[in-house]
Amino acid sequence: MPSLSRSTILTSLIVLIFSIYMLPTILRTASNRLAPLARKSILTPSRVGVATTTPLAAFSLFNLGNTASFGSMGRNDIGNDEAPLEPKVVKQDSEWRAQLSPEQFRVLRQKGTEAPGSGKYNKHKEDGVYTCGACDAPLYKSKTKFDSGCGWPAFYEAIPGAVGRNVDRSMFMERIEIVCNNCGGHLGHVFKGEKFGNPIDERHCVNSISMDFKADDQAKA
Ligand SMILES: [Zn+2]
Repeated sequence: MPSLSRSTILTSLIVLIFSIYMLPTILRTASNRLAPLARKSILTPSRVGVATTTPLAAFSLFNLGNTASFGSMGRNDIGNDEAPLEPKVVKQDSEWRAQLSPEQFRVLRQKGTEAPGSGKYNKHKEDGVYTCGACDAPLYKSKTKFDSGCGWPAFYEAIPGAVGRNVDRSMFMERIEIVCNNCGGHLGHVFKGEKFGNPIDERHCVNSISMDFKADDQAKA
């Protein structure tokens, strides 16, 4: 084979090895670039009530609808956030299983996510307090709830000290997980810098099934 010199073969080999070595970095960069685009194309229509089924499609693609601001979240953005407290309510899995429904157990104890648009508090607008579905601790006041159009209940602020944060590197991305500080139950994720016009530029994206609700008259009783 006179056309393939030794140096050509050697160069090709080096390029091939380098490509394989760099593949994870390339994929990671691509996913960083794509997440904001996904937010624009998927979430914006649903915010104006046009595409109610699109978030379902996003859900099947690694739950992109739930990770809208991933692209704007740096590795160290969790720095100012509070790590979870040591839970006061500690139970064995068997005890949680006995207390919770299978779907509640999957979300609260196994960090699952309910299907978008399926939760009972997604469009819930009553005045009151949202409490932990596992331990009843107060988590969010209804006045901090807003319509994000993402398919899950959204709050811009938790009751002080009620919610802790963990870095979540599952699903090939980096997100901030939020948990109940009283029992460690998984609530959802928090996203920053989406400019929904709230006093705090955050979106606590919480599974309905992780919460209960007490209307104001109940909360005072
Ligand atoms: Zn709890």
